Amino acid sequence: MDRIDLQGIRSRAEREVAEAATADALDQVRVRLLGRNGVITQAFSRLGSVPPADRPALGAALNDLKASVEDLVESRVAVLQETSLRTRLSAEAIDITLPGRGPTVGRTHILTRTLEEIAQIFLGLGFEVVEGPEVERDCDNFERLNMPAYHPARDAQDSFYVGAEWLLRTHTTVVDVHVLDSRRPPMRALAYGHCYRRDPADASHSPMFHQADGFMVDEGVRFSDLKGVLLAFAHAFFGPEIRVRFTPSYFPFTEPSAEMAISCVICEGRGCAVCKRSGWLEILGCGMFHPRVLEMAQLDPERYTAFAFGMGVERPAMLKHRINDIRLFYDNDVRFLGQV
Ligand SMILES: [Zn+2]
Repeated sequence: MDRIDLQGIRSRAEREVAEAATADALDQVRVRLLGRNGVITQAFSRLGSVPPADRPALGAALNDLKASVEDLVESRVAVLQETSLRTRLSAEAIDITLPGRGPTVGRTHILTRTLEEIAQIFLGLGFEVVEGPEVERDCDNFERLNMPAYHPARDAQDSFYVGAEWLLRTHTTVVDVHVLDSRRPPMRALAYGHCYRRDPADASHSPMFHQADGFMVDEGVRFSDLKGVLLAFAHAFFGPEIRVRFTPSYFPFTEPSAEMAISCVICEGRGCAVCKRSGWLEILGCGMFHPRVLEMAQLDPERYTAFAFGMGVERPAMLKHRINDIRLFYDNDVRFLGQV
């Protein structure tokens, strides 16, 4: 009778190896079976107590058992490695079916684009684009443009004063004064940028707004030159079908003065709510520089004449892009900015 229960050891080994769920647990099983004090090692040490005739067969059976248990452990190691690899891969998995998140790309603000578009048109007409400071002296902003101290446009109600002498410029026409001082005719210049007036914000007013302002000085500059330049601008900006209309007006720094209107871009002149049924939209003021303005710039009004014009930038942009509230420009709502 076999005193060593080979079959029992084999069954136990198969069960424990199969139940080992981790590499550590499997290693403990291996030590219990094959280690120095393991069941199989101890079985070998008991060979001496077996009758000599039985030893070779029992020894061979034990070697066979040891080899097959080693094989069991080896294959279990491979299975556990495979399982742990799968677990790790599934934990680190990237779902490539998810749609990607594209980077959000900004764009130039509609008002900046409008300013650049206006500047580009006047550059094409031979104008130089100039800049000036946003804080100006009272005398440059008003007096040099023929608005002396008693003029109502100087009323503090209309302007943001920074101390007694300085104020936020109320129009870009003040840049003309600096250009007139620093150059000699012939000159053609366009200035644009921010202007500030104490207007309460509503759908068509804002205390901060933009203007583009141009002028040309030379011998023999006439009102017809002004009309030709502004007609070319209106066609380039609004389209070749646009008609223009000049009506008499008043500005302290021009004489004669005019308002220029364009045929309504909404109703094409038939009359609608935007043009108040008139078919026309006023977009800018213009005229010939007052002789006093030239004199104050040390230019002889008998020799030189000059035309000048100034327009808001928001209104043409609103008309061109069908925007009905000026405040939308400054709200920075990306839903609006993405549309225009
Ligand atoms: Zn209309």
